[in-house]
Amino acid sequence: MIADNLRLVKERIERKCAEVKRNPAEIKLIAVSKNFGVESVKEVFNQGIVDFGENRAQELDSKFSQLGNKITWHFIGGLQRNKVRFVVNSADYIHSVDSLMLATEINKRAASLNKVQKILLEIKTSFEDSKAGLTDYSEIKDLADYCKEFKNTDLIGLMTIAPFTDDVSLVRKSFSHLRKLRERLNADNLNIKELSMGMTSDFEIAIEEGATMLRIGSAIFGERDYSKSWKETL
Ligand SMILES: *Cc1c(COP(=O)(O)O)cnc(C)c1O
Repeated sequence: MIADNLRLVKERIERKCAEVKRNPAEIKLIAVSKNFGVESVKEVFNQGIVDFGENRAQELDSKFSQLGNKITWHFIGGLQRNKVRFVVNSADYIHSVDSLMLATEINKRAASLNKVQKILLEIKTSFEDSKAGLTDYSEIKDLADYCKEFKNTDLIGLMTIAPFTDDVSLVRKSFSHLRKLRERLNADNLNIKELSMGMTSDFEIAIEEGATMLRIGSAIFGERDYSKSWKETL
């Protein structure tokens, strides 16, 4: 089942890339394994996927200790300061940096592990109050400058979650906003490469708008069962 799902997702990515004349090799597929157990992760890993995304510090920590660093782990969830050390210990990428406080703590913890932590800034590109992320350009620019100065963080990209809506134009707007923001920051001498955008419901639009990292969960693993705690899945 999972192997078939994954094959379909890859086909859809390739088809869309061909359509908009992009090279699929420049798009990283991150399999979002939250709420699925290590057996499911192994199944996808055995199909050749090495990038996995998690949104809870403890869940990542647990899967990391069972599966280790043959997997490239992406932390994509809201991050509290007191969990930063666990996440820096296990994640290759942290996509959800949205404050100087968090960036400072990540830099400090990475330094203590002799590591340069790859990070992305989370940007709020929709008008939904429930979404996290930065909105104000000068705030984003200041934070990006700090992250470039820090010795133990490497700011490689921007991340966003599009609004949950059937209105394709709003989704597209959210993604194109992220792309334009990268252009503006890069014109201001920041060298930001990655755009982490696109999930199960909207990844084809994200590819059209320039995504370089797709975070796809349910299209690969199936529907998540939120009636079960993630702890029961491990
Ligand atoms: C869960 C999650 C995803 C994947 O969602 P699907 O709709 O299952 O593809 C992507 N990004 C973030 C930040 C998530 O929390």
